[in-house]
Amino acid sequence: MCGIIGYIGPRNATSIILNGLRRLEYRGYDSAGIAVLGARGIHVERAVGKLSNLELRMQNSESARPPLSILNSQFPIPNSPGFSIGIGHTRWATHGGVTENNAHPHLNEAGTIAVIQNGIIENFIELKHELQAEGARFRSETDTEVIPHLVDLYMRSGMSFTRAAFAAIGRLQGSNAVVLMCSQEPDKLIAARLGNAGGIVIGIGPGEKFVASDAPGIVEHTRTVIFLDDGEAAIVQADHLEVRRLNGAPVEKSPHVIAWDPVSAEKGEYRHFMQKEIFEQARAVTDTLRGRVNFETGEVTLENLELRVENGESSFLNSQFSILNFPKRIHTVACGTSKHAGLIGKFLIERIARVPVEVDYGSEYRYRDPLIEAGMVVLGITQSGETADTLAAMSTGRERGAGVWTIVNAIGSQAERMANGVIHMRAGPEIGVCSTKTFVTSIVDQYLLACALAQHAPQASDASGEAQPAASYALARELAHLPGLISQLLAPDPIYEELANRFHDRRHFLFLGRGMNYPIALEGALKLKEISYIHAEGYPAGEMKHGPIALIDETMPVVCVAVKDSVYDKMISQIEQVKARSGIVIAIATEGDDFIQRKADYVITVPPAPELLTPVLTAIPMQRLAYETAVRLGCDVDQPRNLAKSVTVE
Ligand code: GLU
Repeated sequence: MCGIIGYIGPRNATSIILNGLRRLEYRGYDSAGIAVLGARGIHVERAVGKLSNLELRMQNSESARPPLSILNSQFPIPNSPGFSIGIGHTRWATHGGVTENNAHPHLNEAGTIAVIQNGIIENFIELKHELQAEGARFRSETDTEVIPHLVDLYMRSGMSFTRAAFAAIGRLQGSNAVVLMCSQEPDKLIAARLGNAGGIVIGIGPGEKFVASDAPGIVEHTRTVIFLDDGEAAIVQADHLEVRRLNGAPVEKSPHVIAWDPVSAEKGEYRHFMQKEIFEQARAVTDTLRGRVNFETGEVTLENLELRVENGESSFLNSQFSILNFPKRIHTVACGTSKHAGLIGKFLIERIARVPVEVDYGSEYRYRDPLIEAGMVVLGITQSGETADTLAAMSTGRERGAGVWTIVNAIGSQAERMANGVIHMRAGPEIGVCSTKTFVTSIVDQYLLACALAQHAPQASDASGEAQPAASYALARELAHLPGLISQLLAPDPIYEELANRFHDRRHFLFLGRGMNYPIALEGALKLKEISYIHAEGYPAGEMKHGPIALIDETMPVVCVAVKDSVYDKMISQIEQVKARSGIVIAIATEGDDFIQRKADYVITVPPAPELLTPVLTAIPMQRLAYETAVRLGCDVDQPRNLAKSVTVE
């Protein structure tokens, strides 16, 4: 999840930054670094591991070593005696190993521009090649390092730092938060937000400003803040703050005052935790990918999948899958939203890895005398890791000799302790009772698992083997685009409010989907009923004519997932059937699909994406629709009646 802190003002930037990073420590990181402007230019220190390593490094360097970076005394330092400016970062690697060289801040060659960044730069390979052709020499394996070189290139062509920073950020694709400083214009920080993988909050104090990825990093100094929206950049000066779109157009922002209690501080700019958690999904997905995919080769790293299969001493942690321990079959066990994620995982694992998967309710599995044998795996999916029914189903698997894996969010939970293979969702705390970000991360985790299985299947090395192992590398590389695609779905869109206004008074909704998006119909119905108390049914669209069609009349909203995938034509014919009975069709469709605009009454669009990634995208409109409807009804969104976040009873 990684953290960003910046400071400009009369106080000591170093201690404010280190303190702020410490407050964000709980979000997880693997290395840390800081850049402050000193009399001889930008001084950078970085260290792998905990912040205490960085602090130690800083103490040693003060007494013994010359500053690591680049020292150029000709740069003007503001006259004000107590002026201080700096940026700090806790990194959680997405591109390149956990090394000091890859830790942020990153610099241009002259060491005059320092940059910290959260997220994934999707087009970094193209940018890197372009910059290398211009003579830039890269010192790290990160995507981030393209930014200081790009700003440098633009400044050498005559642009000011501010213009160059805007131009460089404007070239980044993906979902990112970026902060820059420059010793040639030492009176400002530039901070920008692209998409939703990382936020930027700017704290406003008298004659000073703070920048952070998350409000808890700065609230001890000021409660008056502004939050940057997607596509905005701020020019942050000690006594001045200007926000612009990346194209330069000015933006009026009104400051928020964050309440003192920790709950409001954590909620930040959002009204409800569920809303916050919906909007955190690009970031949660980025986090779940970190260190697990090599985006250049498409290799999914087993070590970091923390996967082992029960089979004597052999362990996936240290060895590749072998014929002996490669799972013959997987039984996924889960409840509620996690069960729906498991149904999508079945498509992914079967299609990518060709390993057969059965999915069952945790509460049913152990009572149906399942056929379990050695060499297969029972996979429990659970947010809390304490779901009684899922744990019981996992125990059944273990007692009967299967390997037990879990995909789990809560660290140290029972599910994790019970399993001999763990994939953490890394969604961060989910407070809203209605699951959102843990749903999408558990789908992504199963996608990773499917690629890992395909890449390490015994038949992967067999010339006569299936085509999928090779395809899995390309499929894994596609994941780099996912946070950016999710961000597009989180942009403001009046359709949700419009639909909530129009249909909040309905007593029934129907949700239809096919193929990989059929579980999304189930999940859409579950979201709506959980928080708005409107009765909703989810169905595989082909089943409609076997019953639910009897319910359709001119009062019935029918939400149809009809993205451009291999079952698109089939979905269109279901939509025709709904329309023939005067039902109201709300379609979730692919951007640019004009045909569906003519068929449906309302259309919510999702960006075009490879078919296997579409459920992650179509899930989000379902969440937003349910959220807006529940808010319109005045329901207690975060704590819906009769429901608990962690269901620890049978
Ligand atoms: N993609 C960057 C890296 O791997 C940023 C990582 C982060 O978000 O901490 O260095």
